[in-house]
Amino acid sequence: MKFQTARPVAGITVYQPGKPIEEVERELGISGSIKLASNENPLGPSPKALAAVQRALGDLNRYPDGGGYYLKRALAKHYELTPEHFVLGNGTNEVLELLAHAFLDPGDPVVFSEGAFIVYLIVSQLTSCEMRTAPMRDFTHDLEAMAARVDERTKAVFIANPNNPTGTAVGEKALRRLLERVPERTLVVVDEAYCHFAHREDYPDAVRLIPEFPNVVALRTFSKVYGLAGLRVGYGVAHPEVAAAMERVREPFNVNSLALAAAEAALEDREHVEESIRVNDVGREFLVRELAALGLPFVPTQGNFMMVEVGDAKGVYEALLREGVIVRPVAGYGFPRHLRVSIGTPEENRRVVESFANILKK
Ligand SMILES: *Cc1c(COP(=O)(O)O)cnc(C)c1O
Repeated sequence: MKFQTARPVAGITVYQPGKPIEEVERELGISGSIKLASNENPLGPSPKALAAVQRALGDLNRYPDGGGYYLKRALAKHYELTPEHFVLGNGTNEVLELLAHAFLDPGDPVVFSEGAFIVYLIVSQLTSCEMRTAPMRDFTHDLEAMAARVDERTKAVFIANPNNPTGTAVGEKALRRLLERVPERTLVVVDEAYCHFAHREDYPDAVRLIPEFPNVVALRTFSKVYGLAGLRVGYGVAHPEVAAAMERVREPFNVNSLALAAAEAALEDREHVEESIRVNDVGREFLVRELAALGLPFVPTQGNFMMVEVGDAKGVYEALLREGVIVRPVAGYGFPRHLRVSIGTPEENRRVVESFANILKK
């Protein structure tokens, strides 16, 4: 190519999203497909968020509230913190990028797991960091192994809790042990995109650890339980000094006005959140039972998705597509024998189980 890219670019692979329904149906000439590929809320957004979007439509000629004043104020109230603890992003993905811009220099060591959410790898590559990866244990972040890779120079440790794509979560004791072991200057980024779905008793709330450990950055999103993935809005919760550094590298209007309005309304709609959690609990229990009955091993999940061991993942993925069921291959995460299946509505869950059964029969 005659254009020379910046140094890190050549090593970066484009992020592979779940296939959109329209694309699959066009390619295979089928209709009535379901998508269980991107861990989206199967119930849709909160009706209150939709109403807020409607109200905001008339002001689309205006720039958004650049500092996110109202959403930050709502978040501050929700968490009983000050607005200075929050950084808003065009999805949590952008918050991760802001963090990299604000804190990472080329060559800085960062630590994450081999089977962790891929965006940690992408932002580390983008900033030419020295990536120190730790193997997982039972599909779970091995925080001891991760802590062992941290030294005085290490700028950040990334922990998805629950992790995507494995669905596993670490407990409070293990997380505290890691926090006590790493230097005070090393940021420990705890990505809690799926925190609402975690059901283990000792699941730690990273936001609550910030007063005690000011190096903790908790990440949350409106894309999952709140059902607003299409609008792109997420946030970081951090010590105000950490948040202020990220604010400095943020573009002026990074979160759009519809997303700001929807997020504020969604945060208040606790009923929708509770119903979404309930539907996920029911779906998870159904899938656990039915997959076991089919003899398909799976990784027990704390999220709204499940990694199922199918063997020939590519073949089963394609067979599922022909059945009109879109799931997510995870070979790129180092799991070539598994597929990741999002937990859907009861009807969608029945459909995916039926499709697995049909494929196993062949
Ligand atoms: C889905 C997901 C997010 C959320 O990303 P957004 O950019 O907010 O949509 C963050 N972390 C993990 C681990 C995820 O799976």
